[in-house]
Amino acid sequence: MPPLIIRAGRAFTPQEEIIDAAIVVEDGKIASVGRRDAIHAPAGTKEILARDMILAPGFVDIHIHGAGGHDVMSSTDEALSAVARTVASHGTTSLVATTVTAPPDETRRCLEEIARFIKSPANTAAPAIPTAEIVGIHLEGPFISSTKRGVHPPGAIAKPSIALFDRYFEAADGTAKILTLAPEIPGALDLVERGYAKGLVVALGHTDATYEQAHTAIFRGARHAAHVFNAMRNFSHRETGVLGAVLTDDIVTAEVIADGIHVDDPAIRLLLAAKGTNLVILVSDGISATGMPDGTYRLGTFDVTVSRGVCRNREGKLAGSTLTLDRAVQHMVHLGVPTIEAIRMATFNPARRVGLESRKGVLAPGADADLVLLTQELKVANVYTRGVALS
Ligand SMILES: [Zn+2]
Repeated sequence: MPPLIIRAGRAFTPQEEIIDAAIVVEDGKIASVGRRDAIHAPAGTKEILARDMILAPGFVDIHIHGAGGHDVMSSTDEALSAVARTVASHGTTSLVATTVTAPPDETRRCLEEIARFIKSPANTAAPAIPTAEIVGIHLEGPFISSTKRGVHPPGAIAKPSIALFDRYFEAADGTAKILTLAPEIPGALDLVERGYAKGLVVALGHTDATYEQAHTAIFRGARHAAHVFNAMRNFSHRETGVLGAVLTDDIVTAEVIADGIHVDDPAIRLLLAAKGTNLVILVSDGISATGMPDGTYRLGTFDVTVSRGVCRNREGKLAGSTLTLDRAVQHMVHLGVPTIEAIRMATFNPARRVGLESRKGVLAPGADADLVLLTQELKVANVYTRGVALS
């Protein structure tokens, strides 16, 4: 592939804004980025003019269950590639494949298969068509609270067990990145420590923890919170619960599903006021129905009905979303968040959370050429995944 230079009206690196920006892409990586007059491209470089566009890093989704009619837990190469291709057309260029609570044998098999795919050339080599890279696994469950399980199947919820966690960790073969658990369940704090020691990001989620319990878990190594407000103990001014700990502790990052359905706007404003934009991470919690028409779809081992893009299980509980991160960014800007900060919440913040910020979620020399070109209305106009363009 010949080198490529893209000239854009504005770029968000996303630490800073560059007016009149240029970026040079060579061999799927960013060779240089800066103001137009400071960037020189080698002879034979193909030029893309996007003067009315915003250039940003591709989005990084650290909580996503599926897309394009496929669930990551079906874990075939075909399913995983379909998920990765579908989200790429919406600007997501990296994702952390997220499991749901399922029986142990099935979970282990999924982890092995997803890990094998992650390490295969189908995922790691430069894609022939735009495809997000799967950069790890997020284990959502099985060590969660049965009272805050959301749609996770109650029969498959497991008591915290170091032995079971170790088996899952081994099955994931170095690709496990995030473990979401409920810290109040007896034995869970040992798991927090174990996960932390193994280099995982331990997340509080699907939890009925009190403030004290959540605070203790953070002290023992929890550093993140899964889809904040959803599937968490309610906040009260006398027992602030897990939310009280997550909102007030600067060591903890917080995911939010900003689809206008999962969390009301004032709650998102409260989250931003408490944490600041550097600790908030936009996630989709997207399921297989993402990018598909309404109908019945699979989430892990159960069926979900999607009507007008809203996903619910048979009991009528919200069951993931059909959100994509382009829309999440638009939603934040609609709430008054400056564009650069909204983009940071979908790029650099999640990449840093899983330790990939030198390669993903940034416009910097040496990083993967995972890029989005956005219109002034923040609609995706084009996407590059490791240098390969959508259009
Ligand atoms: Zn969840």
